Amino acid sequence: MSSISSLFDEPIPLAQARERVEQLRKEIEYHNYRYYVLDQPVISDAEYDRLLQKLQALEAQYPELITPNSPTQRVGAPPSGEFAPHRHIQPMLSLANALSLNELREFDARIKRFLGSPADERIDYLTELKIDGVAVSLTYRDREFVVGATRGDGFTGENVTPNLRTIRAIPMRLRDDAPMGLVEIRGEVYLDHEEFHRINREREEAGEVPYMNPRNSAAGSLRQLDPKITARRRLQIWCYSIGHADQYRPETQAELLEALSRWGMRVNPNHRLCRDIEEGVAYCEEWREERRHLPYDVDGLVVKVNAIALQDRLGFVSRSPRWAVAFKYPAEQATTRILDIIVQVGRTGALTPVAVMEPVEVGGVMVSRATLHNEDEIRRKDVRIGDTVVIQRAGEVIPEVVSVVEERRTGQERRFEMPTRCPVCGAEVERPAGEAVARCVGVSCPAQLQRRILHWGSRGAMDIEGLGPAQVEQLVEKGYVRDPADLYALTVEQILTLERFAEKSARNLYQAIQASKGRPLARLIFALGIRHVGETVARLLAEHFGSLDRLAAAVEELSAVPGIGPEIAASVHRFFRQEATRAILKKLRAAGVLPAEAALPEALGKAPKAFGADLTFVFTGELQSMKRSAAEALVRRLGGSATGSVSRNTSYVVAGEKPGSKLARAIELGVPVLTEDEFLEKVRQTGA
Ligand code: NAD
Repeated sequence: MSSISSLFDEPIPLAQARERVEQLRKEIEYHNYRYYVLDQPVISDAEYDRLLQKLQALEAQYPELITPNSPTQRVGAPPSGEFAPHRHIQPMLSLANALSLNELREFDARIKRFLGSPADERIDYLTELKIDGVAVSLTYRDREFVVGATRGDGFTGENVTPNLRTIRAIPMRLRDDAPMGLVEIRGEVYLDHEEFHRINREREEAGEVPYMNPRNSAAGSLRQLDPKITARRRLQIWCYSIGHADQYRPETQAELLEALSRWGMRVNPNHRLCRDIEEGVAYCEEWREERRHLPYDVDGLVVKVNAIALQDRLGFVSRSPRWAVAFKYPAEQATTRILDIIVQVGRTGALTPVAVMEPVEVGGVMVSRATLHNEDEIRRKDVRIGDTVVIQRAGEVIPEVVSVVEERRTGQERRFEMPTRCPVCGAEVERPAGEAVARCVGVSCPAQLQRRILHWGSRGAMDIEGLGPAQVEQLVEKGYVRDPADLYALTVEQILTLERFAEKSARNLYQAIQASKGRPLARLIFALGIRHVGETVARLLAEHFGSLDRLAAAVEELSAVPGIGPEIAASVHRFFRQEATRAILKKLRAAGVLPAEAALPEALGKAPKAFGADLTFVFTGELQSMKRSAAEALVRRLGGSATGSVSRNTSYVVAGEKPGSKLARAIELGVPVLTEDEFLEKVRQTGA
């Protein structure tokens, strides 16, 4: 990457510069908002850094254009307002960048000039990994964790204490040799690669936009309004400095790191005390390749003057300390030509356009494919087949297309059209409004087969014990199973050919599969893996329609079902109109998969809704005329609600044979108790 000064070799006139500065500021502010507030950047960090550099270069050329509100003069973004503001004891600043090893040497020279020391003097630098995460401040009072916040605009951050409490590596109490009084510790919250991928898989499955990178994902996880969500994301932390301490003052940065570690904070073991800048340069070189072996993203190294006394003398410039610099590895880029754009179908059915390119070397690796993410991205960058493009590899991420070299266009380039049918199975492709990802809805799409079969057998679905990922993988690979219905044709002999199966275990799996044939309709609907149809929606659909055939035939009626929104209705409708779906249903029926609740009383299909929504029933004990689940379904069908526990809001408790503790609870709370007959009478009164 070029340095700031070489970006604008040709000086431009003031009037033009003013216009360009305005435009850049607007653009940068927009990206700050996407990045810091929404956690949804739309450009890569390298692209962002380029914009900022252009602005810096123009401002360096015309200092009269600098305003206090210019993005070059501030850190991050103001807090979003969703969290309580937290005023930092000491401002949390950013770091100046060094984009080449020479800029690192310039940093050393600048320091000596500022200190008035001879050019050949050696300064100790503590060099640390620059973790690509989210800066946080953790305040302890008398060793107890009291408040934690994000950086925000550097002066005021967001109070995210409950979320930070969910991070196991953050001690709620510092160890005994930590100082008393106020101590404010700073660190970087991050996600490792494995967890990042897990979260993105989960998001994709839920139809949400995947996070762009681990940093962005960590920021999103830390800024959840519900700490329970944060708790499910295994966030990590490395600590590297203190903002304030009432009763502690280290002599050096190295000593501080040791102290933090003794107090119980997590300190990254990869740092080195360098005796001069050349040792620092060498350490940066060492990590250039090595960082790829780390399980988390490192976007550079931070070189800090080791002696705190010197740090104090050096002080700060507008947005960063003068005594530290972030050496950033350049994003590895190369130029090549796009030969074709193909579409890959992922495990979740997501369609990803991929550029097939003339092979080219980027960062020591030959690549011939790069992701184009999705249709909107292609449109935004206006990438066409035949284009010459700049691609880049950042961190461990697969290469991506950064931009098109428009000057190289010949007019022969072709625009890409997203297919409307799945390139693997031919089923329809859906792209719900507001979502970036297009997906195949094919029920037997080979690209999604393993995942679908696994889902079919999962606990909330057909609940087939012993059908785990290893078994599914082999069944699919051996060609025994091409759709869920094939499971029911499996023989014990076939199961015996799978790894780690003996006579008994094979028979068990066989029986577990056969036993799943009679599962309730709601489970079968859930097992089909229709988008947006989770367990609750499946139950609503089962209760409303009573049979798979009726559900499959319903079109307009779907969105009239309470609790079914237009999005779900559209998805269900789209699913059932697929040829492949009809084929599967036929095959399932032939295999004897007949859901248990299919025989819900026909007459109820047109039952008037006679119970008010606030009429709440709780059932306890065994009923004689029907199963408890059927009685609950009946109540819901009539417009009332059925819940599992008794409260003051419960209208009636219906007690069957051998009632449980719910009866006692009803009596205690004064909730009326009905016998089964009395309950049936109430049902009859509705005319059902
Ligand atoms: P920065 O990431 O360049 O460096 C400063 C930060 O490094 C510190 O605040 C701290 O959080 C972190 N850090 C990690 N390890 C550290 C260590 N050992 N010691 C000290 N600090 C350490 O600067 P920034 O102001 O945090 O973020 C700006 C960057 O964010 C830009 O360079 C850009 O890459 C990115 N950004 C991207 C977009 C986008 O749209 N893609 C938008 C805004 C910002």
